[in-house]
Amino acid sequence: MKKIGIVYNQKPLSISYAQQLKAKLPLYGLTEISVGETPDYVISVGGDGTLLSAFHQFQSSIDQIQFIGIHTGHLGFYTDWLGSQIDQVLQGILENEADSVSYPLLSVDISLANGQKHHILALNECSVRSHRKTMVCDVEIKGQFFETFRGDGLCIATPTGSTGLNKSLGGAVMHPRIEAFQMTEMASVNNRVYRSLASPIILPADEWLILKPDPSNEWIDITTDHLFWADQTIESIRLELAKERIHFASFKHMHYWNRVESSFIANLKNDSNYK
Ligand code: NAP
Repeated sequence: MKKIGIVYNQKPLSISYAQQLKAKLPLYGLTEISVGETPDYVISVGGDGTLLSAFHQFQSSIDQIQFIGIHTGHLGFYTDWLGSQIDQVLQGILENEADSVSYPLLSVDISLANGQKHHILALNECSVRSHRKTMVCDVEIKGQFFETFRGDGLCIATPTGSTGLNKSLGGAVMHPRIEAFQMTEMASVNNRVYRSLASPIILPADEWLILKPDPSNEWIDITTDHLFWADQTIESIRLELAKERIHFASFKHMHYWNRVESSFIANLKNDSNYK
């Protein structure tokens, strides 16, 4: 019997759909997971933010799970289904087990000055920022010094995260099938004395980045997706594409560029009411 995890936000509509899902699972021969169990499928009900929470909740067994996103606001980048399509979602799980797509994740290895080490996966991005003073940070690419960045911070995004914070920073929107990751700058200082590239860069799957903040930067904030660690003293952060990938059930096909268009442009020419 397939095991289902259900993650939802606290909007009344999301709670209502989650309750309907729970009630319908047995009708389809499916069962909700108990605490500590690994699900075969995780259904998130809410927005992209809810799917990010679900991803982090099940990160340790990510390769065994397929995700399905039901949206209760606007169409998202990780959420394809409407609440009115719960029966189609559950029927799809029974009939289309093999239909899945997988996308790259970012591996983040943080070494703190106190000797602690942390490893985490990011679905959208990792950002490294200083709010108290200019962040000064050496950037190495594949073991070679590249630049000393000075500014507010750096954002390192996955292809699926490229439409999130990365896009607001002027990064390129990347098709999620591209095996690469992207670094964008936040408000870099560029003048005759200090210089960084001042453009987003896209790195291939066999390269890695190491960020080494200057030891004078004692209060660095790190985010991975919606998670936040304030005022860290960092020795280095290594970023690269992860061995693990996120898997989505793909029995509803959605053209990626249609999703980008409807999220960011909403061109009237594509609206059936537009004459
Ligand atoms: P949040 O309030 O949960 O999310 C901020 C907005 O970003 C929401 O509208 C969310 O969509 C959307 N979003 C999340 N992932 C996305 C993606 N891959 N592509 C396009 N839009 C996406 O904010 P948070 O908890 O601080 O951070 C969660 C994520 O939001 C971050 O990983 C970051 O990528 C994004 N974010 C973007 C900006 C920005 O663009 N300036 C600022 C902060 C955060 P839903 O409404 O569907 O949840």
